[in-house]
Amino acid sequence: MTTRMATDAAVLEVDLGAIGMNYTYLRGRHPGPVAGVVKANAYGLGAIRVAPYLHAQGCRHFFTAHLSEALAIRPELPDGMVAVLNTMLPGSEGAYLEAGIEPVLSSLDEIARWRAQAVRLGQRLPALLHVDTGLNRLGLDAADLAALQADHSLLDGIDLRYIMTHLVAAEVPDDPANAAQHAAFAAACAGLPKAPRSFANSSGIFLGADFASDLARPGAALYGINPMPGQPNPLHQVVRLRAQVLSVREISAGAGVGYNGTWIAARPSRIATVAVGYADGWHRSLSGRGHAVFDDAPVPLVGRISMDLTTYDATDHPAVVPGSWLELIGAGRTADAIAADAGTNGYEVLTSLGARYARRYIG
Ligand SMILES: *Cc1c(COP(=O)(O)O)cnc(C)c1O
Repeated sequence: MTTRMATDAAVLEVDLGAIGMNYTYLRGRHPGPVAGVVKANAYGLGAIRVAPYLHAQGCRHFFTAHLSEALAIRPELPDGMVAVLNTMLPGSEGAYLEAGIEPVLSSLDEIARWRAQAVRLGQRLPALLHVDTGLNRLGLDAADLAALQADHSLLDGIDLRYIMTHLVAAEVPDDPANAAQHAAFAAACAGLPKAPRSFANSSGIFLGADFASDLARPGAALYGINPMPGQPNPLHQVVRLRAQVLSVREISAGAGVGYNGTWIAARPSRIATVAVGYADGWHRSLSGRGHAVFDDAPVPLVGRISMDLTTYDATDHPAVVPGSWLELIGAGRTADAIAADAGTNGYEVLTSLGARYARRYIG
């Protein structure tokens, strides 16, 4: 058990060892190499800690969404690839070059701008090529892909590290989009210069051998989110959020709790308040839903979640007193379970984790 400071009202523990075990597990499930997707601050858990830890576990390929995220982790990694998923914005070419970050090129315009740098420097420059096979957000569209397939010289000077695409519905194994994207990706690659391929995200790794490639790109599964909703989660829980009870008050039957009194005590009750609220990414849509865990038992969340506080009905838990620690996220109350109550997914629960928590890294 890590030491806790009495002055920390809420403590977020990130189990790096569990991330390492999840990485090892995913490598066992994927025939090719496995990257670490560390965008959005490693899904809220702290990219500056997670990326070097993954590197120590043998990970050599990292993906962020923003250039700024890549710039933050690049100095922490002695070698390996750091690539930016969200296109290469005009004017940012020099920053990629200077920092040794690889762009994921998504259009003919980006390809031309990266080639111009290669010509200027008189050397081949590494890049990934993103092909859209159904998401219709980023990646070469049909026209750009056809132009490239018709004229490979458009890629002269570019060292094509990977051709990649991204799945629409990988967490739904029988969604026909999976097979359609598999076919579209194969057709796209067949007409492009030969290069390694990158295909599956977390859930895609579990879709079977057809979705294996030269580089899988899991994010969520590394952080303990279930890649196969509805089936047992094979991954280790990584995140633990605990909050200290600030106050416990006795209220009489008929008294309301929180803004607008949305919860009315049906009996004389004991209300425990903790310093976690929607400003900490504790979704307001969880109001009146779910529970915290105390001594392995559920303590129901009652009333509205406010900006800085959440209230629990501790009537049946006489041992809950000021200074007690309630577990809001953990093995007994996973991000996926919270997401189900909040009407979102585990990804959003993790990426929302607030900046006010005292963060501890273990393992
Ligand atoms: C976020 C992202 C991933 C990782 O997806 P997970 O579902 O978290 O494994 C992989 N590839 C791309 C293009 C992404 O945007």
